[in-house]
Amino acid sequence: MPVTIVDDEVIIGFDAQRLNEIFGRSREEELYDVLIIGAGPAGLTAGVYCERKMLNTLIVSENIGGQALESWAIENYMGFRMVTGDELMKKFEEQVRSGNIHMELDRILSLQSEDGTFIAKTATGTKYLAKAVILAQGKRPKKLGVADEERYLGRGLSVCSTCDGPLYKEKVVAVVGGGNSALQTAIEMSKIAREVHLVVRSTIRADESYLQAYKERKNIITHTHSVISALHGNSLLKAITIMDRDSGRETRIELDGVFAEIGWIPNTDFLEGFVDMNEQKEIRIDINCHTSVPGIFAAGDVTNIKTKQIITAAGEGAKAALEAYEYHVNG
Ligand SMILES: Cc1cc2nc3c(=O)[nH]c(=O)nc-3n(C[C@H](O)[C@H](O)[C@H](O)COP(=O)(O)OP(=O)(O)OC[C@H]3O[C@@H](n4cnc5c(N)ncnc54)[C@H](O)[C@@H]3O)c2cc1C
Repeated sequence: MPVTIVDDEVIIGFDAQRLNEIFGRSREEELYDVLIIGAGPAGLTAGVYCERKMLNTLIVSENIGGQALESWAIENYMGFRMVTGDELMKKFEEQVRSGNIHMELDRILSLQSEDGTFIAKTATGTKYLAKAVILAQGKRPKKLGVADEERYLGRGLSVCSTCDGPLYKEKVVAVVGGGNSALQTAIEMSKIAREVHLVVRSTIRADESYLQAYKERKNIITHTHSVISALHGNSLLKAITIMDRDSGRETRIELDGVFAEIGWIPNTDFLEGFVDMNEQKEIRIDINCHTSVPGIFAAGDVTNIKTKQIITAAGEGAKAALEAYEYHVNG
């Protein structure tokens, strides 16, 4: 359920009428040059570049800021030694709002093409028309399925070891998962943290190179056939309980952080059969952000580009916008 806070007002769900009163009337039936889906780092950057090319642009997104809002300490975005996700994304938003771009808070449910025009339908029943589309709707982490997960996300529970790993120097952490990403994170964290608990649902299934490196690390304690059954703490995560799936026996582990490495789900359900995707349901793009459909571009975490970071999402958003401009000019 989306919750939107505007000044002191809290809006629960897609109250289209109230959102339109605050953010301006929706421009249904207007034919935009570019529709951008998603207002994370990729979509917002694409918006600024489209505006600079004088394209009549609409951004439709469920929230403004995307996943970066979840990060309380970003230390790898150029120009800032440290910035919270909230602060950084406010700056992105300010830059977009200073230009002539329309933004709507809504969820796109379908996208289709009719006589060279793209038609997007939303959760509030609105229909938007555009000559070109930039897909920038990111991804969401798979859930651990344990109580209080949302509460501790960014407060000890992390889904981004590249981002948060350095914060756990000499501390105790757990890594959840048994594939390549989990093993890679466990190996990297074992060089930073004092102790790493690897919590594996069944058994480890990873490439030989990772297995070799993992076996050499003395400070990784592995719990196979185990799941996290509870998270404990106050404002920050302080401990977990893990349960042995065979015996049902529970063990409490005091720690400072947990890295969930159990996979991601790209937000591409509504594109099934419309654009080409890989096995992970990420949108396939070429090096210039073109998808398999002419006039549809994609950028950021929703694509098959391997690196999933704010700086790369923003860079890809800029590329996608410049390609959309060329498409607009040349057809
Ligand atoms: C906890 C956490 C900490 C992180 N820390 C860092 C860090 O320190 N440094 C770093 O570089 N990266 C970090 N990352 C990764 C970074 O946030 C992402 O790589 C980046 O946000 C991707 O940007 P994006 O624009 O591609 O997608 P997203 O940020 O996922 O934005 C997608 C947007 O699309 C919207 N959307 C989704 N589906 C729809 C739909 N159907 N209709 C309309 N809108 C839709 C979403 O609401 C969202 O606004 C972190 C991620 C997390 C989760």
